[in-house]
Amino acid sequence: MKLVILGGPGSGKGTQAALLCRRLDILLVSTGEIFRRAIAAQTELGKKAQPYVEKGELVPDPIAIELIRDRLGQADTSRGWLLDGYPRTAFQAEELDFFLERTGERRPWAIYLETPEDVLLERCLNRRDKRLDDSPEFVRRRIQLFNERTIPILDYYDYCHQLVTVNGNQSSDMVLQEILAGIMVNK
Ligand code: AMP
Repeated sequence: MKLVILGGPGSGKGTQAALLCRRLDILLVSTGEIFRRAIAAQTELGKKAQPYVEKGELVPDPIAIELIRDRLGQADTSRGWLLDGYPRTAFQAEELDFFLERTGERRPWAIYLETPEDVLLERCLNRRDKRLDDSPEFVRRRIQLFNERTIPILDYYDYCHQLVTVNGNQSSDMVLQEILAGIMVNK
């Protein structure tokens, strides 16, 4: 099974991604986590990504695309995977399909956690495990980028009948149940 999970900052996609991977026994790949770890370790990738990640901006497509290609080319991906935080732009979505096509694999299912903007903002500002990019200024910018760059991807997956939209504004248990039901119906 191959899945991507899409949602604004604070939509709970990180939480749902972890729950789903445990439940479905697939690999979790979180690009945000990979970038944060690379920044902490000051690797080549980390140094390139740092100015963007710290300000809530998107890391340029070529860097993100290369990262995901490298990661999905590794052997542990054969049991299926879920991408948390990728794709973020239409170009990334197309490149992902292109990459999968070349190895004869199908397009992934996309799960969208639909959540009102005021809820996204409130959750980011009040979360206990707050990150550097969770300040009001950067959260607003991340929401804006989500609307401008990531929302258009929904049409792309919808057009291919590969989209499951769930209500992200409910308990994480309910969200998980809705996602699982959506995936099972569409499988
Ligand atoms: P996240 O943990 O998914 O909220 O990602 C944290 C930050 O990592 C984002 O605000 C971006 O700066 C960067 N990032 C993560 N995934 C991507 C991606 N697919 N494309 C560009 N930037 C990304």
